[in-house]
Amino acid sequence: MESGSWKKQLRSGISNAGELCTAFPQLAPKRAMIEEVTATYPVFINSYIAGMLKGPSDPLWRQFIPDNAEIDDTGGMVDPLAEDSTSPVPNITHRYPNRVLFLVSNRCAVHCRFCTRKRKIGRSFEVTAATITQGIDYISRSPQVRDVLLSGGDPLLLPTDQIADILGRLSEIRHVDIIRIGTRVPGVLPDRITAGLARMLASFKPLYINTHFNHPVEITPQSRRACALLADVGIPLGCQTVLLKGVNDSADIMCRLMEGLLSMRVRPYYLHHMDYTRGTAHFRTSLSAGLDIIRELRCHASGMSVPHYVIDLPGGGGKVPLTPDYIHAVDGNALLLKNFQGKLFRYDIEAQDAETFSAPLAHTPVI
Ligand SMILES: *Cc1c(COP(=O)(O)O)cnc(C)c1O
Ligand code: SF4
Repeated sequence: MESGSWKKQLRSGISNAGELCTAFPQLAPKRAMIEEVTATYPVFINSYIAGMLKGPSDPLWRQFIPDNAEIDDTGGMVDPLAEDSTSPVPNITHRYPNRVLFLVSNRCAVHCRFCTRKRKIGRSFEVTAATITQGIDYISRSPQVRDVLLSGGDPLLLPTDQIADILGRLSEIRHVDIIRIGTRVPGVLPDRITAGLARMLASFKPLYINTHFNHPVEITPQSRRACALLADVGIPLGCQTVLLKGVNDSADIMCRLMEGLLSMRVRPYYLHHMDYTRGTAHFRTSLSAGLDIIRELRCHASGMSVPHYVIDLPGGGGKVPLTPDYIHAVDGNALLLKNFQGKLFRYDIEAQDAETFSAPLAHTPVI
């Protein structure tokens, strides 16, 4: 089960309505609807994931099977994070001074129905040798960029020698201190992670991998093996989870997911609130659902299992963490703080802090 099997899992994947209805006959009556949805938002499900899909009530089904709610949703925004308009060269988003997002692949191992880059995935989205070189040139002439975040599409779907070439060229840039790869591959195409790939990745300058797992069913013997191969060569692993209605919007599921991730040496990093991406409204939860989950994780699981719950501001404002409010009240020179059991404790503050906690809200203009 070395490198051949993942290529076969991609080749034998489902990529149109006809194949989908053959693989899952219960979808046949909905074929016309699926044709219509996939004309706008293409489907792709590799055979590893297809083999795990059971039926509409399973948490993978909702993530990958096209649904008419996608085309019914005409609100939202096509590019909610203004990634394209804050792009100095194609496929680079330079939002924060010291780090860039760099799209180096236009392919994914599956098409997630909730994807923020739904506008691009499986469609005409160009990644060429020229855009990669333009991106690397931009980074090399931008000395303030110390952290390069490779994404896509999924960078780990590129041929191994091409990944090595990109990492090699980025590593030669003196001011780039760290490289990060965002990938869903360890959870959705785990056989792609081979000992050879892991060794190659580990040979480059401080490299971090942020995986993407949304539900405990994605933690399988194969994905455990994939994460172990990466962790064993010393690559720090994080996880970006998306909070999805009907998939993982319960504290119990999230506790099991986060504890499962830690058991694979994957440290939860972000829990993303669903962006206002057109075609994804049926996945969006309330903010209070997310805050409740964070509160419950703090209470029932290790502190290591608690990700930052973030909203990515529409229009390209960047990520903002939301935290449950633990300050119940300010009482003179003390804070009334709520602990993990919901009990109130008095915590004396010193004069130097009194102003911070009693100051009225400052007037900052709103964008
Ligand atoms: C998320 C993101 C980053 C990385 O942000 P961190 O908070 O450092 O993980 C960088 N650029 C863009 C455009 C992003 O969306
Ligand atoms: S793997 Fe990531 S980029 Fe690709 S469709 Fe899923 S969420 Fe989007």
